[in-house]
Amino acid sequence: MHRMLADTPPVAMEDVAEAGRLEALDRFDVMDTPREESFDRITRLIRDIFDLPVAIVSMIDGHRQWYKAYEGLENREVSRDETFCKYTLQDLTPLVVPDARDDARFAQNPLVTSAPQIRFYAGTPLRTPDGHNIGTVCAIGFEPRVFTARESAILTDLAALAMDALELRQLASVDSLTGALSRRAFKEQAAHAIALAQRHRHGLGCIAFDLDYFKSINDNHGHATGDKVLVAVAEACRAELRGTDLFGRLGGEEFALVLPHTDRAGVAGVAEKLREAIARILVGQGDKAVRVTASLGTASLDARTADMDALLANADAALYEAKAAGRNRCAAWRPPNDAPAGPRRRVLKAGRIMFNNRMSSIDCTVRTLGEDGAGLDVTSSIGVPETFSLQIRSDAFETRCRIVSQTERHLEVEFC
Ligand code: GH3
Ligand code: MG
Ligand code: MG
Repeated sequence: MHRMLADTPPVAMEDVAEAGRLEALDRFDVMDTPREESFDRITRLIRDIFDLPVAIVSMIDGHRQWYKAYEGLENREVSRDETFCKYTLQDLTPLVVPDARDDARFAQNPLVTSAPQIRFYAGTPLRTPDGHNIGTVCAIGFEPRVFTARESAILTDLAALAMDALELRQLASVDSLTGALSRRAFKEQAAHAIALAQRHRHGLGCIAFDLDYFKSINDNHGHATGDKVLVAVAEACRAELRGTDLFGRLGGEEFALVLPHTDRAGVAGVAEKLREAIARILVGQGDKAVRVTASLGTASLDARTADMDALLANADAALYEAKAAGRNRCAAWRPPNDAPAGPRRRVLKAGRIMFNNRMSSIDCTVRTLGEDGAGLDVTSSIGVPETFSLQIRSDAFETRCRIVSQTERHLEVEFC
């Protein structure tokens, strides 16, 4: 890595292990993907078998615990510091906490001292075949409870089922709701299109887009309406595309396209057409009618941006600029300060934002990384100062950063 502190201590074993764990998580490509029945079924079973109000199948990245499936909760993620599951992650066997108020590790936890006032917890790690704990399967109650050895064994089996479901979803090539390519299939076919474009020296563009304020559509009109909007968006996109274009669903309400034989101006034109087509969508009728908009980022294949991860990372960075600039708009990727710059890579690394003379720090997940900048996910960008130090301990990396653009949960920074 290019920026190291002269006095950087050797990388600790735990940071190496954490980097390997995050790489394993990244291979499953599951963070921020939609709910899926095979995981929802497991949380329903947990709730019913153990007669407990809350059940979760979760993944843990650099800064948060995110729920692939959950019963009995409202939020879909929680900051990593606060979770019970960070302890489960370190183990091979289930962690059982019969009464959190009697347990020194949890008695002062805000989830115990105030709402939702957790008392009972049983969690078991989601362990990959190569031995990394990427998340947990857990059951939670609001009363103290015993958990028998037999119940622990059942929970362990349910975690193994969740792991099987994770492996199976890797093999699917089409998203069942929208008919778009799955993330994995999209990336595979995109890599093939890129190789062709490079061999025959033709242009190739990439568009990444994310629906604006989609959470409020779900909140105000229900999840089923949200799903209808997603289907309508996918239909609107397909209507604008050529047969050789690739269209994938990369996350819940996040899509991407690869356009072979298309130069920079062409990509910008397609992005604008998609933006307009999405803004015209109307789902439902009368005062129940729902509209939606999207923010789009574009990037093009060139000598410095030579693979799918780099291309997508650049399109993502542009997408976040479009969000920060007000949403419902398109932005083209440009290197920070317009200087010639290397491409970004899409990564999943644990990072730390440090400021206030290193007295304050906030955990983050580094999602893209280049020679001159990075994209960081945070639980909340409120309180992060304009400039700070970014540390990636597994890479012995630390550098000063300046925020280029930000949304509620994402920061684009340039190194200075
Ligand atoms: P922003 O403009 O910043 O993108 O705001 P947002 O509300 O769109 O962003 P956020 O990432 O906070 O919310 C995305 C929401 O998408 C949260 C999640 O509940 C919803 N979602 C993800 N997958 C699905 C799905 O398959 N169906 C439905 N109905 N909603 C989904
Ligand atoms: Mg999103
Ligand atoms: Mg969104």
